[in-house]
Amino acid sequence: MGRIHLEHPGGSSKLFYCVNCDTVLTNRRQLVSMSFTGATGRAYLFHHAVNIRMSEVQDRVMLTGRHFVRDVFCKKCSAKLGWFYEFATEEDQRYKESQIILERALISEREGTDSPGEENHGFDGH
Ligand SMILES: [Zn+2]
Repeated sequence: MGRIHLEHPGGSSKLFYCVNCDTVLTNRRQLVSMSFTGATGRAYLFHHAVNIRMSEVQDRVMLTGRHFVRDVFCKKCSAKLGWFYEFATEEDQRYKESQIILERALISEREGTDSPGEENHGFDGH
């Protein structure tokens, strides 16, 4: 198996990690809603995540109607993390398209390591 290139979502806000292997997935600024429900309980909706892999599109009937979704897995350890909304058939659910659900039990939250402001000062020495 080759080396897996991992990305960083950036930002100094709270970060979300794969609970299994500690790979960073997304940050607080990408968080849309915390009131979703997944197979394991509470789930969060995000605009964007990195270091993930997705399955083929699947046709799934959910609590809020029929959706075309992809299962989302950790790119590093392949643990299932949630799903991606490819297409929603109900008009009032269309806002979820191209967004990602990560299940609360499958991710961990930690404060970002960047110190606010510090990264912009730099040290412009000679
Ligand atoms: Zn992982």
